[in-house]
Amino acid sequence: MPDVVVIGAGMVGAACAYYAAREGLSVTVVDRAAVAGGTTGSGEGNVLVSDKEPGPELDLAVLSCRLWTELASEAREAGGFEHEPKGGLVVAESDEVLRALTQLAGRQGKSGVVTRQVATAELAGYEPHLAPGFAGGVFYPQDAQVQPMLAAARLIRRWPRVALRTGTEVTGLLMERGRVTGVRTRDGDIPAGAVVNAGGVWGDRIAAFAGVELPIMPRRGFILVTEPLAPAYGASPAGPPAPLVRHKVYTAAYVTNVASDSEGLETSAVVEATRAGTVLIGASRERVGFDRTVSLPVLARLARQAVDLFPALADVRAIRAYCGFRPYCPDHLPVIGADPRVPGLYHACGHEGAGIGLAPVTGLLTARLLTGAEPEIDPAPFRPDRFAGTPG
Ligand SMILES: Cc1cc2nc3c(=O)[nH]c(=O)nc-3n(C[C@H](O)[C@H](O)[C@H](O)COP(=O)(O)OP(=O)(O)OC[C@H]3O[C@@H](n4cnc5c(N)ncnc54)[C@H](O)[C@@H]3O)c2cc1C
Repeated sequence: MPDVVVIGAGMVGAACAYYAAREGLSVTVVDRAAVAGGTTGSGEGNVLVSDKEPGPELDLAVLSCRLWTELASEAREAGGFEHEPKGGLVVAESDEVLRALTQLAGRQGKSGVVTRQVATAELAGYEPHLAPGFAGGVFYPQDAQVQPMLAAARLIRRWPRVALRTGTEVTGLLMERGRVTGVRTRDGDIPAGAVVNAGGVWGDRIAAFAGVELPIMPRRGFILVTEPLAPAYGASPAGPPAPLVRHKVYTAAYVTNVASDSEGLETSAVVEATRAGTVLIGASRERVGFDRTVSLPVLARLARQAVDLFPALADVRAIRAYCGFRPYCPDHLPVIGADPRVPGLYHACGHEGAGIGLAPVTGLLTARLLTGAEPEIDPAPFRPDRFAGTPG
């Protein structure tokens, strides 16, 4: 019998398994689909501190950025995964926006975020192909990018103490005298010392198996992918070839969109090049349930905003688009920790648009709570029973 069953082989479940096993626990990860077959395989890999207001989520993000660097360096021996600490550049459309951005950077600094003010004249040094006319920006060296699918697979494989069962749907929880004692699956029961709900946007359904509510809702996002671009955009003819887009680049409007509670459509392009040469243009946000219908107007809006940032993209073809469902909680904070309503059940879900970035810290925190060790960060803001009476 494993010490822990983790439901969900997404980025968050993978990180929970990794850190729990690192603490010496035996773990079985169960997923009805494949590794990264949920939202992890249909989003982006931004690891951002730049887009978060000071508070509990930023505290998680600052620690998680550091953990990502450690994980990437540890995984290098086993083949590694893409982790590019390239930094993020947030640009301001006007002097007024720049003032707000600068104030935000000042406040973030108190939480351990490193920032560099970038004057208008310096923008081209960071991004030679950026459109003219921006009032300046802020550079965030801690922002990074990972390829989450491979990262999730590598973390699950890291310890022999972790067993993986894909294609296995959890249909209920085993309960004894009000305590969760394992999971019921289509392929039989798996008793365990504890169960971690890392079901992402489906985490509410897993909680419901234990008779408790979590108000997790899907927030749809589309991503546009360009054809691969040759790295032939050096700053000078003598310089080494460099990608068209060198950092993560987005406008300050993105921060407002991320924090918004609106159900309606919001788009503000985040543009970044991948190692494969493609440029990822993300992402839209809207609450339309689990509707996967491709929306051309949304894609057109993303494309236009990306061209507004990098005019050279006007001549580049988009080769595909995809969408995923962010696990949205009404207060924009993830649900992490033991559920006081049901002993034996832990949650690690509801990370909305930051689940890749926050996966390592979530895994670490969950492992600490499972073993009764002192957590690095106070888990109180993320407690599962905080929503009583919250309208969805
Ligand atoms: C367009 C878009 C862009 C994004 N960009 C970013 C970004 O740049 N940076 C970032 O940090 N985050 C980003 N996100 C958010 C991020 O992708 C998610 O927060 C993250 O993937 C959540 O991971 P997870 O492991 O919690 O969930 P998932 O990856 O969804 O994993 C949950 C798993 O649980 C399994 N499961 C559910 N129910 C059951 C069951 N009953 N039995 C067995 N298995 C079950 C599912 O099959 C799934 O594999 C983006 C999301 C979208 C949609």
